[in-house]
Amino acid sequence: MLFLTHLLFTALLLVLFRGVSPAGSGTLFAVTALLATLLPDLDSAGSILGRHAPWVQPLLRHRGVLHTPLAAAVLWLAARPFTTLADALLLGYVSHLLMDACSKEGILALFPLSRRRLTGPIRVGSAMEFLLGLGLAAAVLLLL
Ligand SMILES: [Zn+2]
Repeated sequence: MLFLTHLLFTALLLVLFRGVSPAGSGTLFAVTALLATLLPDLDSAGSILGRHAPWVQPLLRHRGVLHTPLAAAVLWLAARPFTTLADALLLGYVSHLLMDACSKEGILALFPLSRRRLTGPIRVGSAMEFLLGLGLAAAVLLLL
């Protein structure tokens, strides 16, 4: 999925789950989650973050290990001792995985146990993704 679609879905999750926990309602939590939703695409030379980390793409193929629940779990476990924002990192990261799982390219949902991809019907950058983005934006605005 595209950058904006990821941000909109994460924003929707933040709005839906605000108030669930005290940590989940702060501005810093929200900004952290929105930034974390961009992390998996470090493996893409065309992504916002990937353009600033060109050394990642030769090491990790796009939609590979960074697009797995295992990577989300490792990030959360690594961050948890050092910050109260580990849950925000997890929320943003998992949000990205959920959206990419709806795309035709999918994600490696069961890596390393299986190389099968969890895929969906949406082609990245298509009219369907644009409509999804509009729906997400409308939902965020209605729920604010
Ligand atoms: Zn991605």
